[in-house]
Amino acid sequence: MKPAPFDYVSAETVAHAVEALAAASGDGKVIAGGQSLMPMINFRMVRPSVLVDINRIAGLDRIEDRGDRFHIGALVRHRMTASDPAIARHVPVLHEAMKNVAHLTVRNRGTYCGSVCHADPAAELPMMTLLLNGTVHIASPSGERTLPAREFLLSSLTTALQPDELVTGIAIDKLPADTGWGFEEFARRHGDYALAAVVATVERRQGRAKNVRVAVMGVGDTAMRLPAVEAALEGSEMDTPVIAEAVARLREDIEPNSDLNGSAAYRRHLAGVLAGRVLKAAWERAEEEPAA
Ligand code: FAD
Repeated sequence: MKPAPFDYVSAETVAHAVEALAAASGDGKVIAGGQSLMPMINFRMVRPSVLVDINRIAGLDRIEDRGDRFHIGALVRHRMTASDPAIARHVPVLHEAMKNVAHLTVRNRGTYCGSVCHADPAAELPMMTLLLNGTVHIASPSGERTLPAREFLLSSLTTALQPDELVTGIAIDKLPADTGWGFEEFARRHGDYALAAVVATVERRQGRAKNVRVAVMGVGDTAMRLPAVEAALEGSEMDTPVIAEAVARLREDIEPNSDLNGSAAYRRHLAGVLAGRVLKAAWERAEEEPAA
């Protein structure tokens, strides 16, 4: 397929990009890595009248260390996030997740922020952003605003972003050094979109679980945190019966869809199996805080 005709603007600044989007009266599209957008344009699933290319905007291609958070700019490619030593040190669970994002060529162009904006329910980065209490930094004609990722990601391929807005970056938590983590996904081939994935982090304090975070993807219209599962684990000793109960709860709390790749029942079962492994791994990796 070939795309329908469109105008092209190569934005020089964030303000220029927002101006071009506003001028398109709701019919413009930002292009970052183009890895998801171009296929959709070629299949005419989207027909923007204007493509606003942000690749020339200076300063968006950095991962900035901002104390207890990292700020990932809108032009940070998957390859950069995957190989960043500070991410590997402070957010090892994201370093691990990045190994599963797409294939080499896609990783060279695709961006972290583009993946979150695309909001594919089977993509790792929306899930990781929810896990890491991400906030989305947005430039709009009226100024700047930030939204928590849980308010940004609405459903499959749908976000709270307005047509004249641009995501300039996403901020995520660093994790305390002794945080335990687990990440598991099941995909038919490595690097493909997964059928389901589960991720968790936990701190161990006096033998009990603290600050438990659990997120899933591929088992609903969007990636999700699971507050009831987190609450069930918080303060527990995360032994086998507790994990089994959490897995049962997780299976209750998700609403997978059936599609060509698997039935809802299969995905529910799969998510539970992955969750059992993830929670066990996270607890085993968590280190007890040294006595003061
Ligand atoms: P683009 O394609 O440029 O844009 C995607 C959408 O986001 C568009 O609607 C665009 O307008 C919008 N957008 C992009 N940036 C911004 C911004 N800064 N502000 C506002 N809107 C913006 N992803 C995974 O997570 N896991 C996988 O396993 C995986 N496998 C893949 C396999 C293949 C073969 C392909 C082609 C893609 C795969 N992807 C996977 C998707 C890949 O990660 C994409 O790079 C990503 O989803 C989109 O990033 P992008 O920078 O290419 O965005």
